[in-house]
Amino acid sequence: MAYDYDDDNIFARILRGEIPNATVAETEHTLAFADITPQAPVHVLVIPKGRYVTYDDFHANASDAEIVDFHRTAAAICAEQGIAADTGAGFRAITNAGRDGVQEVPHFHLHLIGGRPLGRMLA
Ligand code: IMP
Repeated sequence: MAYDYDDDNIFARILRGEIPNATVAETEHTLAFADITPQAPVHVLVIPKGRYVTYDDFHANASDAEIVDFHRTAAAICAEQGIAADTGAGFRAITNAGRDGVQEVPHFHLHLIGGRPLGRMLA
């Protein structure tokens, strides 16, 4: 499966500095910023800086360094935002992928959502 990356998607434009963002964390391979339409008191989007369309694309094609950096950054954000599971609070990490996953922005991103009881949700 080949993934066609759209360089005009909104997160590509954020990465190029063409659209402002509320940055939460930035590393060599990863950027995290506040979701513009937060669904909870904490709603952070974590994105790789590389051109990956979906969860599948990222984990199949990114380097180990990019993947480790991405997930360590996400975990650090949970700790910094006070929503880590070991604080007793907890969070939900979601990625929407493709058509049936109703992915709106075609640049892989992980939603980190917390700061309130989230209820049970699997679909
Ligand atoms: P998706 O449905 O998983 O692709 O979610 C895309 C997310 O991007 C939504 O939660 C939007 O609120 C968020 N979003 C769209 N544009 C921007 C922006 O310019 N800044 C921050 N978040 C955005």
